[in-house]
Amino acid sequence: DRETLEALKDLPAVTLDGHRVHVVANMAVPEETEALVASGLDGVGLFRSEFLFMDRSNLPDEEEQFTAYQRVVSAFQGKPVIIRTLDVGGDKHLPALALPREDNPFLGFRAIRISLARPELFRTQLRALLRASAYGRLLIMFPMISHLEQLREAKRLLEEVKAELRKSGTPFDEEIAIGMMMEIPGACLQADAFAKEVQFFSIGTNDLVQYTLAVDRMNENIAHLYSYYHPAVLRLISHVINASHRAGIWTGLCGEMASDPLATELLLGMGLNEFSGAAAVMPKVKARIRSTTMDQAKQVARHVLSLSSTEEVYSYLRDKTE
Ligand code: PEP
Ligand code: MG
Repeated sequence: DRETLEALKDLPAVTLDGHRVHVVANMAVPEETEALVASGLDGVGLFRSEFLFMDRSNLPDEEEQFTAYQRVVSAFQGKPVIIRTLDVGGDKHLPALALPREDNPFLGFRAIRISLARPELFRTQLRALLRASAYGRLLIMFPMISHLEQLREAKRLLEEVKAELRKSGTPFDEEIAIGMMMEIPGACLQADAFAKEVQFFSIGTNDLVQYTLAVDRMNENIAHLYSYYHPAVLRLISHVINASHRAGIWTGLCGEMASDPLATELLLGMGLNEFSGAAAVMPKVKARIRSTTMDQAKQVARHVLSLSSTEEVYSYLRDKTE
């Protein structure tokens, strides 16, 4: 009940047998900061920076972005804050960029593809992020990476910006961690290669489901086909987590699935290290984590991964949880 969930606020996300994971928040605008800090979560798993750019006719300059990022990072006082670089295109429009109309926007010019095509825009964001990293623990995450070359190019630009900052004596976190969204099936299948070049992964199931099953995440007519319980999606998730661990890095999940208590034990059993979702629902996820053991969770994961249909997976988890 509500009172028990409220009491959970200051308790760690740890299983009955002592396995610690992180339960963190998704956020969109810096105005949410204070409420999120008060929620007692372990940090921010996804700050969708594109909201700073949307619903306006101009672009935020470096100073405006720096102020926004710095506010969040400072407020979390050393807890991790993952800020994702611009992810527009697809369903998110950005008037100031005058993006071309496309027949297939979700397969088109979006996210990192825009950032790499417009390096001056990307550099401004990277400078603001690096400067904010001096005020706490900021991690940078790149969206929609499908090709290793994209990740390398993004990192190369980041290194260039770091060199500029060093030259001008501007402080930033020299140890800043870099991660990438795992939301394209092709990237997931190549997780072993990507894991050698980043410090963490965050699985974006909202997009991963649509790209794996060819089901538009916005189309109501086919919404019944859209499910993160599809065995193919679960296999990709499991593969990404295993690959990250083989390389000695960690994996989070910041799509809607992370905030679904029905999926918590399954994800835990697959080895997920971090659950990121809307702050209001995350206490339920924490409660689930605190009421199971890793042995139990692994059994659930093993069983679910042996099932072959979405309905079987869903029914099993639902019956188990009721
Ligand atoms: C996702 O794709 O799961 C995700 C977290 O990113 P967004 O919903 O912003 O595309
Ligand atoms: Mg996404």
